Amino acid sequence: MAKILVVDDEAQIRGLLVKMLSVEQHEVIEAENGTQGGEKYRAHRPDLLITDLVMPEKNGIDMILELKKEFPSIRIVAISGGGGITGSFDYLPIAKLVGALHILQKPFSLQELKSAVAEALGTPGAR
Ligand SMILES: [Mg+2]
Repeated sequence: MAKILVVDDEAQIRGLLVKMLSVEQHEVIEAENGTQGGEKYRAHRPDLLITDLVMPEKNGIDMILELKKEFPSIRIVAISGGGGITGSFDYLPIAKLVGALHILQKPFSLQELKSAVAEALGTPGAR
């Protein structure tokens, strides 16, 4: 069991992630944008951060850059819709460049999420 922070501006996606992760007995904390995500990461120091990339207020890439600087060993799984309603630009490769251990394209299956989470949690903190 791990403590996992889920950051996504869509309540529906957060709900889905909470459901999926709770089945795996994880403790889940939620935030709805990068600003809130950063605050909650600092307050709760979760074992893993699962974050969307396109969000109002502060996007996922900016939040990752900030947290990575403060917590170099942070474990991150990035999720994004890529070229969906948010536009054709794909942010996932950038998330990988700035420190995400795994990237998941929405929509993803429970199995894909489970293995990304397991691998990220199994990765030694310091990279
Ligand atoms: Mg979003």
